[in-house]
Amino acid sequence: MKYIEEFQDPDLARRLLDDIHATVTRPWALMEVCGGQTHTIIRHGIDQLLPEQVELIHGPGCPVCVTPLEVIDKALEIASRPDVVFCSFGDMLRVPGTGRDLFQVRSEGGDVRVVYSPLDALRIAQENPKRQVVFFGIGFETTAPPNAMTVHQAKKLGIPNFSMLVSHVRVPPAIEAIMRSPSCRVQGFLAAGHVCSVMGVREYPELAARHRVPIVVTGFEPLDILEGVRRAVRQLERGEHTVDNAYARAVRPEGNPAALAMLEDVFEVTDRAWRGIGVIPDSGWRLSARYRDFDAEHRFSVSGINTREPAECRSGEVLQGLLKPHECEAFGTLCTPRSPLGATMVSSEGACAAYYLYRRLELGTVPAAKTAKTAASAPLEASPVV
Ligand code: SF4
Repeated sequence: MKYIEEFQDPDLARRLLDDIHATVTRPWALMEVCGGQTHTIIRHGIDQLLPEQVELIHGPGCPVCVTPLEVIDKALEIASRPDVVFCSFGDMLRVPGTGRDLFQVRSEGGDVRVVYSPLDALRIAQENPKRQVVFFGIGFETTAPPNAMTVHQAKKLGIPNFSMLVSHVRVPPAIEAIMRSPSCRVQGFLAAGHVCSVMGVREYPELAARHRVPIVVTGFEPLDILEGVRRAVRQLERGEHTVDNAYARAVRPEGNPAALAMLEDVFEVTDRAWRGIGVIPDSGWRLSARYRDFDAEHRFSVSGINTREPAECRSGEVLQGLLKPHECEAFGTLCTPRSPLGATMVSSEGACAAYYLYRRLELGTVPAAKTAKTAASAPLEASPVV
């Protein structure tokens, strides 16, 4: 398949690996930001093929995983109302809130529907003018533009029974928070290529310079990951720390101007809590005052939310790269994809789900040195930033 198989070529992978092995002289820790990249790495065993000195730390870039528990509980509350049609992408339905999930709300009679686009929800609102239709708008810079466009359309078309429960997050403030954490070991980043296809790379040079870390914009196929690692390691070995676009087939430096204009029109930057991590300043978007009428939190006064995370779940540490999923005691026992304790075990981009899917049968063979390095990390609560 064009643009897929050619980026999975084993001969090219071997040549890239040889180059990385020949370049590395010292230990380096790189963070892949996106959960999609984590799944590629674990699925193809890329971390096990790299030199022992190169550690890949899994980052917080899973939109489902970082959606705050309080917002999930608000979604459950709104979806339970008899006059509401609650629309969401399918991966949110099994994310555990406090005590239940959206599937349970549906089994109890709630009108919870899986849609493939926010515009599907808008159409449902047009077809059901007597019902309130709410779309669950979560995710990073990738899903924000279509959500913004949908709210823009709702206002333009005058559809009063449509609203959106918004919990969008932004990558650069998360990188900033990770680098400012006292327990941070990350020395370079593989930035999420699809985020950069929207936003461009303008936010990264200052981060790279200030924290003296190479940031390589990286795609999602195995050769993309290997090329991202190769370029990051080469910079580290040379003492460089610049922004490098290794995903030029999709990312232009200026990003997508139409998407950026839509974001600018509909959203405004706000502080945002990340599930398991805490509040990161300026790390989210909310609907701007012009679109406040379409804000589900504003429309439905949801109260009495008392969140409660399972004590066993350590997904906050997983999301910050301080713990590998199999080092959580509940992994594969108390917590599985069928009975998840945390969102990182549910999401198709969650690190715990990746380890469960692709590595649970061989966990006894995970390289001991890499496990030991991770276990030695300080706990994240020490961070004053996140
Ligand atoms: S394995 Fe389950 S309980 Fe452990 S951190 Fe991951 S989601 Fe949480």
